Amino acid sequence: MTTNKTTIRTGQKAEVLITGITHSGAGVGRYHGLAVFIPGTLPGDKILAEVLEKKKKYAVARLLEILEPSSCRLEPQCVHYAACGGCRLQHAAYEEQLRLKTGLVRDSLNRIGGLGEVVVGMTLGMEHPWHYRNKVHFKVEKRDGRYHLGFYEEGSHHLTDFFSAGSCRQPGCLLVDTGLNQLASLCGTLLDKYGGEALEREPGFFRHLVLRKAFFTGEMMAVVVTGSRDWPREKDFAGELMAQQPGLTSLVRSIHTGQTGEIMGKEFQLLAGRDAIYDRLAHLTFRISPDSFYQVNPLQTEVLYGKAGEYAALTGRETVLDAYSGIGTIALYLAQHAGKVYGLEVVPAAVEDARHNADINKIRNVEFLAGKAERLLPALARKGLRPDMVVLDPPRRGCAREALDAVIAMELPRLVYVSCDPGTLARDLGYLAGKGYRVGEVQPVDMFPWTQHVESIVLMTNSGLKGK
Ligand code: SAH
Repeated sequence: MTTNKTTIRTGQKAEVLITGITHSGAGVGRYHGLAVFIPGTLPGDKILAEVLEKKKKYAVARLLEILEPSSCRLEPQCVHYAACGGCRLQHAAYEEQLRLKTGLVRDSLNRIGGLGEVVVGMTLGMEHPWHYRNKVHFKVEKRDGRYHLGFYEEGSHHLTDFFSAGSCRQPGCLLVDTGLNQLASLCGTLLDKYGGEALEREPGFFRHLVLRKAFFTGEMMAVVVTGSRDWPREKDFAGELMAQQPGLTSLVRSIHTGQTGEIMGKEFQLLAGRDAIYDRLAHLTFRISPDSFYQVNPLQTEVLYGKAGEYAALTGRETVLDAYSGIGTIALYLAQHAGKVYGLEVVPAAVEDARHNADINKIRNVEFLAGKAERLLPALARKGLRPDMVVLDPPRRGCAREALDAVIAMELPRLVYVSCDPGTLARDLGYLAGKGYRVGEVQPVDMFPWTQHVESIVLMTNSGLKGK
């Protein structure tokens, strides 16, 4: 055949052997030397694809037919899988997902971080990897006179309704706790009953429904995210929802008028019950407010924190910094084995939760500071704080350079980095490696089965620094 990279065209059909996957979960193969990304495929699949887009260094194609399936191929369980886009690996056997995720982390550290051949532990998976999420946010939309709850289809503004009549074979999302799916369905019914007039006054009035459940205590929270106008039947909605849903401990309205991508607004009004729910994790009790971060997979969180404890290897005397502390979970977990722990967190409500959590768990050797890590860390370093170790657990975008520079200035002999994004993890570890830190252990933990996401925890040491 005479085809080469430059003659591959949009619309062309191509037979491709898939040899890897990308961070967004698409399969990758080569066609006449050009990398081709094909969603819905797996390493080992031999497929027929149609080229949708051709760029200089790669092409994107659509799966037409599987000619020879990978031995790890699985029939996806969710009826919404093809449309929803929330999961990208439901066509892979669970063990294969764990192998693929391990490879993604290894590959990032090597390619993006320039860290060479780092040894990465096999991703720690779940025994029962379904209905593991303790939180979900459904988009709310009114169509044909009814409210629909679901997720936007990949790359579009078309809602996949998870609770419509056609979904009765599977009401809700298979990753979400079944109690939360039932609660969502009930909320949809009650919005139909009590939501109409509000919507007439302000189109798009109902934006999202955010639901949470504390797995240990069973307490549930519902946050209805709306526009700012009056909701004439708000009290009726709240009354009937609380009456019909045992375990609903907290019903909150969040006012969100902006066009930001954030799910919830900044203003919260309590409609019924308490303003927070309580959960237990790793033998500690935690209060969780509506806009506080809380890990979504509690079973695997215990696995993750167990590793954090192991890597921290505390003796009871150390000073520890938890730089993105949320409601204080890691800080309080480690405080039991440390001399003093500082937690830094930017969301004020989460800081309040963290202080309250220290109180209710009778943990006195912690201090929580409100603000950005990239501001607080340099200030603490300038004041001369020299902790024995730091935990960095930033959001997906990773740490700001100022935060890393401050950590370096503190001359810590060890640090633990927890990350939900292998790309920014690799970038930050690469930077730290350039300043004398060495990657000790890397352990991915599967917090998000069936999706392409992977959480990792890394121990870094700096043997040039002896500590105090
Ligand atoms: N360690 C916690 C939270 C991790 S999630 C846990 O395991 O539950 C990351 C946290 O960092 C969130 O609570 C988020 O609000 C916070 N955050 C985001 N940007 C920040 C910044 N620039 N400085 C400090 N905290 C930040």
